[in-house]
Amino acid sequence: MADILIKATAAEGGIRAVGVISTRLTEEARVRHNLSYVATAALGRGMTSGLLLASSMKREGSRVNLRIKGNGPLKGFLVDAGLDGTVRGYVDCPHVELPPNAIGKLDVGGAIGRKGFLYVVRDVGYGYPYTSTVELVSGEVGDDVAHYLVTSEQTPSALLVGVFVGAQGVTAAGGILLQVMPKAARDEALVATLESRVSQLSGFTPLLRSGKTLPQIFEQLLGDLGLVILPETQIVRFDCHCSFNRVLGALKMLGEAELQDMIEKDDGAEATCEFCSEVYQASSDHLAQLIEDLRTESV
Ligand code: ZN
Repeated sequence: MADILIKATAAEGGIRAVGVISTRLTEEARVRHNLSYVATAALGRGMTSGLLLASSMKREGSRVNLRIKGNGPLKGFLVDAGLDGTVRGYVDCPHVELPPNAIGKLDVGGAIGRKGFLYVVRDVGYGYPYTSTVELVSGEVGDDVAHYLVTSEQTPSALLVGVFVGAQGVTAAGGILLQVMPKAARDEALVATLESRVSQLSGFTPLLRSGKTLPQIFEQLLGDLGLVILPETQIVRFDCHCSFNRVLGALKMLGEAELQDMIEKDDGAEATCEFCSEVYQASSDHLAQLIEDLRTESV
């Protein structure tokens, strides 16, 4: 089954809900970057959060970047997610593994670290991107992104993200975002109701692993609050827009002397995309052509 994103509203538009299943794209990231269990969970939570945040942007081409830098051994990650449902990302130290935490879960907070920052960059497709920075709350990702939504966007929000990964790879991943819209934000009872319902859930992946679908999870949380599930289902996927031509463009910027050096010393050049670990090989002929192009352009 493909990964999907669906939206819903409740309380006559006072509540906005988004849910995403990200099992396959998290598994793809795990395989591409050869991630440890805890790194898979960290990046999967980050990519799921990115897709949830990007889904509320309006203008075509909008993207959101989540950069976490913590004081733990994993250091952090970078995620780039689009309104179009594409997402990519990488972990700074992808092979770090930690024992499970006190409640038997992958210790994402311990791996990222409890101290550090979350940087959120929203690129709405024109002009300068908006950047916000918040301190990490726990390094568990979901809490940190929810904290950002409450402090920077002043939107009462509950966010739940989870990844289940074992010897078979990623078997469940996804998340939900519930937000109280401005027109209902003063309705303290509604905010409290949402918070208590989300806190009663024992995590997102147990719901998925028990066989629940996104509409059933929405029903469980919001069924008595006038839930309306929107008909569109968006496919979400791991996708990187790197290409051989982009790599050649980057090599060309190095200049003639450097390119000549690569031809003589290495008989070509190899470049790895940090977002997707795709490896690109440029032969000496490719490099010679770039030198040729540079000479033509400078005439
Ligand atoms: Zn790439």
